Amino acid sequence: MAEYRVVVTDDRFGSYTQENEVFREIDCSVEVLELKDEQETIQSLKYADAVLVNLHPLPAKVIRTLEKCRVISRYGVGFDNVDVDAATAAGIWVARVPDYSFEDVSDQALALLLGCVRKIAHKDRRIREGGWDLKAEQPCYRVKGKILGLIGYGAIARTLHRKVSGLGLTKVLAFDPYLDHQVVRDSGAEPADLPVLLETADYISIHVPLNKETHHLIGLEQLKRCKNSAILINTSRGPVIDEAALGQILQDGGLAAAGLDVFETEPLPADSPLRKLDNVTLSDHSGFYSEESIVELKTKVARNVLEVLKGGKPIYPVNQI
Ligand code: NAD
Repeated sequence: MAEYRVVVTDDRFGSYTQENEVFREIDCSVEVLELKDEQETIQSLKYADAVLVNLHPLPAKVIRTLEKCRVISRYGVGFDNVDVDAATAAGIWVARVPDYSFEDVSDQALALLLGCVRKIAHKDRRIREGGWDLKAEQPCYRVKGKILGLIGYGAIARTLHRKVSGLGLTKVLAFDPYLDHQVVRDSGAEPADLPVLLETADYISIHVPLNKETHHLIGLEQLKRCKNSAILINTSRGPVIDEAALGQILQDGGLAAAGLDVFETEPLPADSPLRKLDNVTLSDHSGFYSEESIVELKTKVARNVLEVLKGGKPIYPVNQI
């Protein structure tokens, strides 16, 4: 029997090559489960040395029954399915992977933006229906000379900023009240408050976390400030935008187009008005995904565990014990 037993609570990947590769340094077995209810979870995790968790809930009631566990490592950025306070009280590290998809989400934002600028999805739909008419997507405007506004100027926004640097934009505005203006300037962006950004930018891309403050940060009032020719991209979280207001504005011509990877309700409901709007490009909350990002995620999830089982601390701890 292996010295350490690592349990995966819910299987989203099918294969665990990266995790096993990381664990080769220690004597460890990886047991992949598909836990259903609380009782089964308690029984299966009782003697685990470490837990790898996707979406499965780990409430205080479960955590208090873990007899050997030293670390709970979550596949992803968020950790709201794990009761961190209960883990801390039990002396268990909680860890996550905050940085596996900067490149991928920023790729997605850029793809949505250029797709909206060149009306690619619209053309694709029309050609498949038998059309071939250059005028159908006119007017289109060139990117050079335009202004990009970034709402939230954290890791993904900055990665996107780096990627757009060859496009000939006049400037990049950034609204992020938690950053020192000099820090923003040092990265080559111009600090702007939200109304100014909305009124000035030709392209707007949202990169804030979802919390009480950012829920419906972009509502009807904010959307009305935007140029009629503006394009709005959201790869952050759906509820940051008031979706009903966005649908209305897009329909009324108050905004030229939107590229959306995230929605207030996911999957996007079948009767969502956004599905009927030709000036909306839809994506299925897949910004995080690439083959490379998944390898990075799985490797880092396992490294969080490896470091603890070797007597250290996770590379990305959520709590301190
Ligand atoms: P980050 O923490 O590095 O950056 C977020 C930035 O937003 C920070 O600089 C913060 O100061 C700023 N901010 C916070 N509240 C704000 C407010 N009220 N107004 C303006 N700025 C504010 O996060 P990140 O890694 O860049 O990720 C950004 C968001 O992207 C995440 O929070 C997540 O919701 C989303 N995301 C989406 C996917 C996807 O698949 N589409 C994948 C990963 C992350």
